[in-house]
Amino acid sequence: MVKVHADLPPLPLRPRAWQWLQWYGVRVVVKDPHSARGGGLWWPDKKLVELETAQEEAAIHELAHAWWEEQRKNISVRTTFSQMVRRLSAETDPRYRRAAGLAYVYEHGDPNTGFKGMFQPDGTVIDWEQYAGLASGVMGQPALLPPYIRGFYTELFDFNGED
Ligand SMILES: [Zn+2]
Repeated sequence: MVKVHADLPPLPLRPRAWQWLQWYGVRVVVKDPHSARGGGLWWPDKKLVELETAQEEAAIHELAHAWWEEQRKNISVRTTFSQMVRRLSAETDPRYRRAAGLAYVYEHGDPNTGFKGMFQPDGTVIDWEQYAGLASGVMGQPALLPPYIRGFYTELFDFNGED
């Protein structure tokens, strides 16, 4: 667990990952520390995690964006990751139900909300929202992800189990 900002609760980040993010230049701003309504943005050019409130879920989500920014520059990393999201979308193991449900919506969209899936109009996968969405979807707990995709998260988040 790491305290990345005085206004945020301790987050399930590996201390080494937070050290790396700080070395990379990431700063965290919390605009309204008295609310936990959520919301935030990752500004890659400014290396800024801008959080509307002190909500833990949003902090995990935006810090995952910051972490993925360098990882995804390796084409095979982001391609393999999105292939594993596709595999996760068909996962039937009940331990991973939450993550599998998110991946299913990323692949197939959601007719109830009109969401078309994590693809740009030209069909390119939006891997950065898949990555950050799964991170906050499991609240930074890699144990809630199956082994074939867990490894993309175990350098960023605390994980004490077998990998
Ligand atoms: Zn996002």
